[in-house]
Amino acid sequence: MSTTDCIFCKIVAGDIPATKVVETDHVIAFRDIAPKAPVHVLVASKQHVPNVAAAAREIPDVLAEMAQVAQQIADAECDGEYRLIFNTGATAGQSVFHVHGHVLGGAALGWEPA
Ligand code: 5GP
Ligand code: ZN
Repeated sequence: MSTTDCIFCKIVAGDIPATKVVETDHVIAFRDIAPKAPVHVLVASKQHVPNVAAAAREIPDVLAEMAQVAQQIADAECDGEYRLIFNTGATAGQSVFHVHGHVLGGAALGWEPA
C-alpha cells in the first residue's frame, strides 16, 4: 500500500531517485539527501505506515528487520557503532510521515537531532 503524495513511497516505487544502500522484500535503505553525519542513511519500510509506533503495532516483523538493516549498514560503514533515531511528530522534527530510522555514524555525535 502506498500514499500517492508521500515522498518515501515514491522512492520505494522508483519514481524519485535515491542512493540505495540496502533493499530487501520489505525494507529499503538510502542515503539522506542532506546528511548530518559522515554516515547518514534512512531505513524505511516499503509499506507506508506513518511512524515507529504504527510500525510496531502493524508491521512488527518489518520494524525488527529495519533494526537489523541499520546494524548491517553500520557494520559496513562505521564499525558497527551508530545512533538510530525515529523522529515522531512535527515538533520532534519529523518531516516525512512514512516510518524511517536515521542511521547516523562515522564521527563522534553530539546531541543535535537528525
Ligand atoms: P525526518 O525529518 O522526517 O525525521 O527525516 C526526513 C529526512 O528525509 C530528512 O533528513 C531529509 O533530509 C530526508 N529527505 C527528504 N527528502 C528526501 C529525498 O527526496 N531523498 C532523500 N534521499 N532524502 C530525503
Ligand atoms: Zn509513504
